[in-house]
Amino acid sequence: MTDDRSPRLLWTEDGAPRSGRFGDVYFSREDGLAESRAVFLAGCGLPEAWRGQRRFTVAELGFGTGLNIAALLDLWRREGPRDGRLHIFSVEGFPLSREEAAQALSAWPEIAEATGALLEAWPGSAPGFHRVDLPAFNATLDLAIGEAAWALSQWTGRADAWFLDGFAPSTNPGMWSDAVLDGVARRSAPGARIATFTVAGAVRRGLADCGFAVEKRPGHGRKRERLEARLEGVPEPEALPLVAVVGAGIAGAALARAFAELGARCTIVEAAEAGAGGSGFPSALVTPRLDAGDAGIAALHAQALSRAQTLYAAVPGAVLAEGVLQLEQADRDAGRFARIAAQDIWAKGAMTLLDESACGDRLNEPLSTGGLFMRDALAIAPRAVLQAWLGDAERLTATVAGVEPSTGGWRLVDETGASIVEATAVVIATGWGTAALATHLPLSPVRGQADWVEGVITPPVAWGGYAAPTADGLLFGATHDRGEASVETDPGSTMRNMETLGARLPELAGRLAAAGNVQSRAAIRATTPDRLPVAGALAPGLFVLTGLGSRGFCVAPLLAEHVAALAIGAPSPLPADLAARVSPDRFGARHPLAQPSPGVD
Ligand code: SAM
Repeated sequence: MTDDRSPRLLWTEDGAPRSGRFGDVYFSREDGLAESRAVFLAGCGLPEAWRGQRRFTVAELGFGTGLNIAALLDLWRREGPRDGRLHIFSVEGFPLSREEAAQALSAWPEIAEATGALLEAWPGSAPGFHRVDLPAFNATLDLAIGEAAWALSQWTGRADAWFLDGFAPSTNPGMWSDAVLDGVARRSAPGARIATFTVAGAVRRGLADCGFAVEKRPGHGRKRERLEARLEGVPEPEALPLVAVVGAGIAGAALARAFAELGARCTIVEAAEAGAGGSGFPSALVTPRLDAGDAGIAALHAQALSRAQTLYAAVPGAVLAEGVLQLEQADRDAGRFARIAAQDIWAKGAMTLLDESACGDRLNEPLSTGGLFMRDALAIAPRAVLQAWLGDAERLTATVAGVEPSTGGWRLVDETGASIVEATAVVIATGWGTAALATHLPLSPVRGQADWVEGVITPPVAWGGYAAPTADGLLFGATHDRGEASVETDPGSTMRNMETLGARLPELAGRLAAAGNVQSRAAIRATTPDRLPVAGALAPGLFVLTGLGSRGFCVAPLLAEHVAALAIGAPSPLPADLAARVSPDRFGARHPLAQPSPGVD
């Protein structure tokens, strides 16, 4: 962590954590948990406020040690609605390390399960949004590491309850600025409640100016007063949509997982078997697109890689190898990799520069260039992931030829115009096949053939070509045949893949040639002019996840959660500026069936 983001943690004599930066304690060691419950949980009317809700969203400014959130999780598990889902969004500008938080939270053994769950999944301190799964609590936490005003401008969820827990306005006015309070109001659901320990006049006036009815209440312990505030309105009742996802590749499988996670029923419509397209190779690399200049592209892929790594790690048999070595290809790459390794968006120690001898040692053959070792990148077995994630979803085998509006939603039709299925929400996730279903999107095909042999083993490595372990051998490739959409394999492509490999790793190429019995497969990547994916709404109730190029296994898990959240009306894990980078709206053209003002914000 760089010094300017350190909380400069100190410990008081009685063992309470104290911020050296702000000169204030996070909570009182003696009754911090009781205070958290009285000020924030009771202050937001919990547990009564979530009665009868299937989904409830709590947002917090000032995550600190996570004590408030642990107390919330504990209450949700004891008194939450049956099968209800809790979404939490919290913001922290100066994150504690896991060890610091563990020491601080050790004071509360009575909520050890909740504090333990948070500590186990404790995100690093990289700026950006981090999703933390809390399955034992039927809850998800999106933790934004960054300034409160920035985080509120990026979060697209709506909170039913707010814990405003920055340090006192007198010592930390930035946490209570008009921009922050406006952000709180903009991201509030009808009837939202606010709880905070401060009754400072500026905070009361600020909240009142934003439309909240503000009330002072008797404080907890030695504090005389605390504040409750409430927005007019009642929570909107939630109708759970019936979802149809077209496509059973990594995009469709990640969508099935994300919808199941949100408690939504989802039918997968696929013309062939799962993974019939680009997701059907015996191995796939999970690598981020590296960008030393464009902060948005870098942040999107850093967040996607982190999410993909967490989710694949939970699938039995999915991870074939951890860590991918990216070799320098051009002279400028040494400097470029150094700038990338220095980017603060990666988890600590995730990107390491290796010199030529370290690269050679790793690959067991002499090399003339260095590279970037991506510790969190993976080689995975696509089949294991597709099977696990498509597992419980209802499946229909049909070729979707069109998507038409129907009463209450959309109808998928086949080539004869007959209805396949109707749904309130549809996601098109058919890779290059999307070009025929959403003709306004500027997708182009890039054919890729990869080849594999059995019995040859090497760690994953990429440069322009790549080599990745399979369950029992090595996959290498791949061709990039722009504008070509044939999935026929051809020996010429195998030859080119061998040459690409031989030019960089001649010894490995020799071992492959000796192994013989090369198997081949070709598939089509869907690519976009800016080489970024397409994920978002095409029209109300109609969504798309495509254009994943060669990075489907890296970006699909996160982007599927984004699209599923949009479709259900749950908080997205993606910051607004990154959502804009992948939105289908960025191309200017509109879907012919899009109504004016889809109302998605
Ligand atoms: N809720 C926390 C808990 O349960 O441990 C205690 C929060 S502590 C009183 C306030 C937190 O707000 C600190 O962790 C501090 O680093 C964070 N903070 C202060 N100013 C901030 C800002 N401008 N943006 C984001 N976080 C900020």
